[in-house]
Amino acid sequence: MRVANVDGRLKLLVSGGAVDAERASGGLFSADPQAAYSRFDELRTWASSVGEADEPFDQTRAGSPVPTPRQVFAIGLNYADHAAESGFAKPDAPVVFTKFPSAIAGPVTTVELPPGSVDWEVEIVVVIGKTATSVPVGRAWDHVAGLTVGQDLSERDLQRSGPAPQFSLAKSHRGFAPAGPCVVTLDELDRPDDLELGCEVNGVVVQKGRSSDMIFSVSELIAYLSGIVTLFPGDIIFTGTPPGVGMGRTPPQYLHEGDVLRSWVGGIGTLTQTFVASTRPDKES
Ligand code: ZN
Repeated sequence: MRVANVDGRLKLLVSGGAVDAERASGGLFSADPQAAYSRFDELRTWASSVGEADEPFDQTRAGSPVPTPRQVFAIGLNYADHAAESGFAKPDAPVVFTKFPSAIAGPVTTVELPPGSVDWEVEIVVVIGKTATSVPVGRAWDHVAGLTVGQDLSERDLQRSGPAPQFSLAKSHRGFAPAGPCVVTLDELDRPDDLELGCEVNGVVVQKGRSSDMIFSVSELIAYLSGIVTLFPGDIIFTGTPPGVGMGRTPPQYLHEGDVLRSWVGGIGTLTQTFVASTRPDKES
């Protein structure tokens, strides 16, 4: 099953387009895309009986398929070659921060560049489908609704400023957590733990990797996080980025006005972000 959010409504993607879940189910399921994850098994059972598309799927009208999670987790330094390009040793435990939910955006967006050095990080995003508390590694995937594509956009100056890092704020500017175009359930993927992911800037590939190279696998991340906090249906986890970020290049390369960033995960889909100058008022005026 593939679920998306178009104009704020839950859609099932089927061959040839989309089906509106609330209308097609006669109100059995809410139109709210976020509500899908609390009744995900029921939704899947119903979806198996859904027929043909009744509308096209237009990605440019899509919002995040997980628009209002209660919690957003993000993992730093989860690919060895990315840890190395960032100047860090391989971590002994997952490095965890948040992207504040106000940063969440859809798959095709225009992003205003804040002052500083804005960088890209393509990531696989895990969507939780069942409440998880102290889940063992071997049962972790049972708590996953599906996977989607995410960009962990990051402003490096703020991220590295001050006496302690400011990961969460620097990665939460408006529009800095685009995701989509849909959430894909695990049965649709040959190897959910070995997906290709990458991104390109203005048509030049800058990142390419495979999720099997994660230092902490999806199962290990869920086991680790759920041992400390409770994960709720509809929570999301940005699982870390492979090598090739702008900060790790010589000289460093950051995003500028007019740049187009295209990000993908094999078997799931693509995101397209276009960067424009900030329209926010000058702080002193
Ligand atoms: Zn990241």
